[in-house]
Amino acid sequence: MIRPILTYPDERLATPCEAVGTVSANVQILAADLLETMYSAEGRGLAAPQVGEMHRIFVMDAGWKDGKRSPMVLVNPEVVAQSDEVTEAEERCLSIPDVTASVSRPVEITLAYTNLSGERQEETLNGDAARIAQHEIDHLDGKLTFDRVSTEERSRLETAYDG
Ligand code: ZN
Repeated sequence: MIRPILTYPDERLATPCEAVGTVSANVQILAADLLETMYSAEGRGLAAPQVGEMHRIFVMDAGWKDGKRSPMVLVNPEVVAQSDEVTEAEERCLSIPDVTASVSRPVEITLAYTNLSGERQEETLNGDAARIAQHEIDHLDGKLTFDRVSTEERSRLETAYDG
């Protein structure tokens, strides 16, 4: 089911999420809804709080716009390692339509997370995939791209935003 996506300044987007207890049938349904909503909105990542579900789960698919879908569902994700090397790049967010913010992030990260079978696993991501995952984990912590830029840049972006 496609869910409505909350937009800034909805307070839920600034609220840290609770850990998921077990990967229940409801969590499976939420994951399917997040993927359907993400593809429909033409995004490459979507976190549960963006549809008002305050649980630590997000979905991503870094490469689907190149023609092949490879969805990932990550429950209770944690960054367990990250590169010292950082890059700055433009990020968009489905919850801040039409705003692009330039954000610095580590180039490579290793994530531990629970998959939809309830198993804990680790995965190392780099490039766009690493950036998307870090952006989505920020959502789980109640952070937006606005929180990752300077105060001056934030006021400039907020003034430009008419959501
Ligand atoms: Zn976002």
